Amino acid sequence: MRRTMSMAGIAVAAVMLLASPRVQAQAKAGPIRLIVDASDAPQKILHVKMAIPVTPGALTLYYPEWIPGEHMPDGPIIEVAGMKFSGGGKTIPWRRDLVEMFSLHLDIPSEVTMLNAEFDFLLSAPAGGFSAGASATNSLDVLSWNQVLLYPKGFNIHDILFEPSLKLPSGWKYGTALPGGKQNGDMIDFSPVALNTLVDSPVLAGRYFREIQLTPGQNPPHFMDIAADSEAALAMTPETEMHFHQLVAEAAALFGSRHYRDYHFLLTLSDDVAHFGLEHHESSDDRTAERSLIDETELLAFAGLLPHEYVHSWNGKYRRPEGLVTPDYQVPMKDDLLWVYEGLTEYLGSLVLTARSGLLTQEQSMDELGGLVALYQHRPGRDWRPLQDTADAAPFLYNATEDWSNWRRGTDFYEEGELLWLDVDATLRGLTKNKKSMNDFCLVFHGGPSGTPALKPYTFDDVVATLNGLAPYDWTGFLRARLDGTSTKTPIEAIENSGWKLVYSEEPNGMEELENAIGKRSNMTLTIGAVVSDDGMVEDVIHGGPAYNAGIGPGMKIIAVAGKQYSPEEMKRAIEGSKSSTTPIQLIVANGAQFQTRSVDYHGGLRSPHLVRDSSRPDYLSEILKPMTPVAGATQSAQ
Ligand SMILES: [Zn+2]
Repeated sequence: MRRTMSMAGIAVAAVMLLASPRVQAQAKAGPIRLIVDASDAPQKILHVKMAIPVTPGALTLYYPEWIPGEHMPDGPIIEVAGMKFSGGGKTIPWRRDLVEMFSLHLDIPSEVTMLNAEFDFLLSAPAGGFSAGASATNSLDVLSWNQVLLYPKGFNIHDILFEPSLKLPSGWKYGTALPGGKQNGDMIDFSPVALNTLVDSPVLAGRYFREIQLTPGQNPPHFMDIAADSEAALAMTPETEMHFHQLVAEAAALFGSRHYRDYHFLLTLSDDVAHFGLEHHESSDDRTAERSLIDETELLAFAGLLPHEYVHSWNGKYRRPEGLVTPDYQVPMKDDLLWVYEGLTEYLGSLVLTARSGLLTQEQSMDELGGLVALYQHRPGRDWRPLQDTADAAPFLYNATEDWSNWRRGTDFYEEGELLWLDVDATLRGLTKNKKSMNDFCLVFHGGPSGTPALKPYTFDDVVATLNGLAPYDWTGFLRARLDGTSTKTPIEAIENSGWKLVYSEEPNGMEELENAIGKRSNMTLTIGAVVSDDGMVEDVIHGGPAYNAGIGPGMKIIAVAGKQYSPEEMKRAIEGSKSSTTPIQLIVANGAQFQTRSVDYHGGLRSPHLVRDSSRPDYLSEILKPMTPVAGATQSAQ
């Protein structure tokens, strides 16, 4: 996941006009005046006023349903309250459509040419979820424009002009890719923009705010706009900051061009908002823990977030699967190519650019990758649900809980997609004696002229054609086997083809330990086959594994292990001792209000995954993780 334009809106519209003559005949709508009053955001409520030019007769207004980058119909319509319409001094009634429930029907009286709408948006969402999750605290607010507007039916979102204004709590500063912001007191008036640009350009505002220029004196400019719940959280060491400068330089080297006028990392540091990232063409909405920039462990835990969302400007926004290019926010999106949209972004962002920018060391990246391969080697859901279906079913798999995730599978097109693209990279290198790689793919597929945002849709065949242009091969067969097959060898082959092997030992995996510490849980997938929180709650049980065979399921609570009160340390001791013990590990488990004894027949001791070099094959992985640009300093060399 992770999203600007006014001139850009026109530029994209021009591309669409050329591509589709039908659009040419389409009328334009607006300008629609939109005033969002966020001065009560700390109180968890936004006030919205709209003035919509109308003609008399039947009118249908939409509330955005399918949110770009979220790949599902999760527009937070439930948080709309106090909705009232008026025109010519009179109230105008409305009624919801009984089938298309994000549609409101009105009958505009004959003398009315301007419809006034007003409503509140309730920021009462729980902390979880994506942009519909918690977005405001006492000290900051992330405004997603799709949540605070209605738009008329019958127009392409490129053809509806909005004139947005935003009122902030007194003294707050803000960052956004939305162009032309003029601040007058606490009110900001932005330039008129097309609806798609508006929705693609969230605003981050807060009391504690810092702007860092990542490419000072260069064009295009890059900003880190940071809002935090405390002044102290805005600090970072020069070394940490250098990695973000390096990220911009490495992305330029990888893609060869930039399809934006400026770029804003909108970074929210708070423990009281939903944690996720949402991509935009000229910015990203990145939300993480308050101490992420100043606490070493937190910094490592969020290392891959900004690189992932940044890659989406090329892979997801500029190049977008055809099925995700829809005329408005009501037409369902088709998620079948998310293994490219998200899988390739996970590979290029969370793995490749995170390592190349130094946000993780090469060793940490290897540890993380080893953990990922091991996890997918122990994912029985791969026996029945093909990787392709995890993408096809994404609109509901995004909402799946962690329990049984190994058997149900979740949005695995991210992580298994990452491994699939590592295998593509290694295979490209193998076929061409290391003369061609995914670096070349990115130049061809994501390159082209730099400048204002443009949209170039693609199909499966376009991906295959690009690969064939680099190294002729049965790429259709290669990809389809890994996408449509079950129990595929993708995880292990990706590692082996890049010159490494997966081994298990008692020695802990550093990144796995870090993830356990951050998540306050023990991931024992590789041993007893369970994930257990530090207070004993069973979060997941591997289908067919030792804990599963002992009758343990998610939602149960482990009270005691080997006769002692449950703690992660006692559990670890019991697993360590299992190697020399002939008796099962005895657990007392609460299933609701009832207690039971469970015997887990496991004797393998502690096991952690590690990658070791396979000297019989070329080491592509180390090369993939190496920076393309000089590391020293904050300047860039590419372009
Ligand atoms: Zn993403």
